Amino acid sequence: MDTPAQKKGMSNAGNTCFFNCMAQSLLHLLKFRAYLNGISESVGTDDKYLHSILSQLNKELTDTSNESPYINSLSIINRMKQFPELKKFLNGFQQDAHEFQTAVLTKLDSYLSNHHPKAEIPFSFLPSMKMCTPQIVKIQRKPSLPLKAGLRCPLEGQMISTLKCQHCEYANWTCFPFTDIALSVHDAFTAGDVKEYLKAHTERESISDWKCDKCLRIGAFKQLQILRQPDVLCLYFRRSVVDTRGASFKINTHINFPTKLSLEPYCANFGAKETKASDSSFKKTAAPVDTLSLMGGNKMFEQPIQSNSNSSKREPEDGPYTLSSVIEHVGATNQGHYMVYLKGTKGGWHISDCDVRKVELSEIHNANASMLFYSKKKPVKKVQGKKSK
Ligand SMILES: [Zn+2]
Repeated sequence: MDTPAQKKGMSNAGNTCFFNCMAQSLLHLLKFRAYLNGISESVGTDDKYLHSILSQLNKELTDTSNESPYINSLSIINRMKQFPELKKFLNGFQQDAHEFQTAVLTKLDSYLSNHHPKAEIPFSFLPSMKMCTPQIVKIQRKPSLPLKAGLRCPLEGQMISTLKCQHCEYANWTCFPFTDIALSVHDAFTAGDVKEYLKAHTERESISDWKCDKCLRIGAFKQLQILRQPDVLCLYFRRSVVDTRGASFKINTHINFPTKLSLEPYCANFGAKETKASDSSFKKTAAPVDTLSLMGGNKMFEQPIQSNSNSSKREPEDGPYTLSSVIEHVGATNQGHYMVYLKGTKGGWHISDCDVRKVELSEIHNANASMLFYSKKKPVKKVQGKKSK
């Protein structure tokens, strides 16, 4: 997948394995590195910026002139402490890699939102929403900017939550951005599969404590679906469970995950086909969305819809998403150790702080995943004529 042939480890600067794994996973992604470059071009390069610090870290991790098998991460950690929202994680105690990643992505996004004004974008620009008329479906998105390549966080996708009356056609939709999909691991799944979790997460459920504004009857169907697929899919497994006595424990159930994945079965389908024209207009006008409102939801509009058919979705075996890395946590809820598997073209690497070793693909798939990263392959575009560079 990504170069270099040999990966470097990162020293542990005192319970910083959560940071090491998150940094290794994100910097392993070509699209994330392009995103850092995109922010640099838009905002500038300076040690006071997080994207510059992460780019510097990537430089050190890929420096073949230095033969050391690992880098000293202390100076990077110290530079990251200038950001209050990150400093609180870098206090020498064990932290949650997922929470830290959210803080890092939010910080990176803030550079772009500070530089560009907020605006309203017609919902019709969103793909798969062509059945909606623009006047009823306006969406408040922020920040808004003419989107250049590499300026949207590659982990950012859009989710749609539908609440539909069980008796009439009235429905209420909410859209919100996400940079990961959190899947709760519970007892019902023993040795589950990631597809089962995604299916359960996006399945329609019946709600009884809801009254329809239109027909005034009780009962709705609620469903969460993916509206726009991210370039990089991050799946996070919530393995921490609180029992009836209030004690928290971790579920170590192994969850199978494929090398190739498709999100199509979990996407909203409004019966409209995504066309190239709508896709390009979307890219021109859409913008990175405030990652602070992760999974929070903003009420965008409230209108009756014709249909929200979601039946008979096929599940392709060979999806456009390819596994990039796996973060594994060993130990209990409050103490343990993070390690990461980075996938290469053949097999990959297992990195536990300074220790790096080559592994077979089968070992990567045996990992007890805490977080999974998948990179989406873009459809091949035929280029006519000669192209320079
Ligand atoms: Zn109704």
